[in-house]
Amino acid sequence: MIYLDNAATTFPKPQSVRRAAANSVMTMANPGRSGHRPAMAAGEMIYRCRVKASEFFGAGSVENVIFTPGCTYSANMVIKGLLKSGDHAVVSDMEHNAVMRPMHTMSEKGVAYTIARTGETDDETLASFRDALRSNTRLVICTHVSNVWGQRLPVERIAALCRQYGIPVMTDAAQSAGVFPINAEENGIDFICAPAHKGLYGTMGTGILIARHPELLKTITEGGTGSGSLSLSQPDFPPDKFESGTPNVPGIAALSAGLDFVKQTGVERIHDHEVKLVTYLYDRLSKMSSITLYTPRPNAMRNGGLLSFNVGNLSSEETAAYLFEKGIAVRAGLHCSPLAHRRYGTEKRGAVRISTSYFNTMNEMESAARAISMIAR
Ligand code: PMP
Repeated sequence: MIYLDNAATTFPKPQSVRRAAANSVMTMANPGRSGHRPAMAAGEMIYRCRVKASEFFGAGSVENVIFTPGCTYSANMVIKGLLKSGDHAVVSDMEHNAVMRPMHTMSEKGVAYTIARTGETDDETLASFRDALRSNTRLVICTHVSNVWGQRLPVERIAALCRQYGIPVMTDAAQSAGVFPINAEENGIDFICAPAHKGLYGTMGTGILIARHPELLKTITEGGTGSGSLSLSQPDFPPDKFESGTPNVPGIAALSAGLDFVKQTGVERIHDHEVKLVTYLYDRLSKMSSITLYTPRPNAMRNGGLLSFNVGNLSSEETAAYLFEKGIAVRAGLHCSPLAHRRYGTEKRGAVRISTSYFNTMNEMESAARAISMIAR
């Protein structure tokens, strides 16, 4: 099988990641609860992962790294932990339902929000965000790279704009973490939400929240933390304030090894490789008359390793099913991002999404191009 659904989760995982997850299951116990060796081993591993993640994302301090069950949970923690009735928020028109559904829930609780339209240029996108700001705007959310169209949004410039007004900024780095550099401190981003299992090559069901201003967040979950157990009040210091219950030890062990893999390989090298792959495919597909490509040719500054298209009048599901018969795994449909599809008029039909990882090759792109050209004919 040629796996081209890496935006859903990267597959395969590096051998070091598989080993780290297996090793944690075999040697580690519940951290922070007991003083015995397997518990201590887990606690030390988690601390090391926190240090790596803090450096990788510019968290400013290890306590600002919060492990979560996924990017969706991280986004919920920020949206529900920060906004309250009477507040206003701004979101881009490329947001995933990981952002839109909690925003919708908050809108039923008196939070208003405005959708800022992405433009053809970063200047246009920035202008949309500027126009959407109000005196009661308390949060601005902008995905870093669209999970449908692969284009990068100017989060750093949006953060600089919001800093002038003292408005916190959250970015959904689900498709960019490990593929584009992102640094909370350097880029002035208050909250970075990221899954461990995509570009960081960890395992599913693990995520991270980088909270440069954890004091702005109320908790959305409380419980045992192994600290201050006599008190019924949740600890008020991070990361304990936000990490109740037994942590996902194998997931964090995998993330730790994934961060090493990305660091050793180099974010720039991974990005260049993936963009080369999708650019090659784009050039092949753009010569086929019955293929609809919705976005401009990938560009290293503006794109991740992801490309969406449709073939003739086929539904995206039909094309994906045909590709799977040819041994090529892709994703069709709406990719949990109806807004992003509305932006390009594909909300009824969806689109076929090809998404790469560092492990894909040019030969695989050639095979995909040939299979697509057969469907097109
Ligand atoms: N945001 C975006 C842009 C995504 O692509 C995804 C994964 N489909 C998520 C959020 C949610 O990530 P997770 O499933 O790890 O919670």
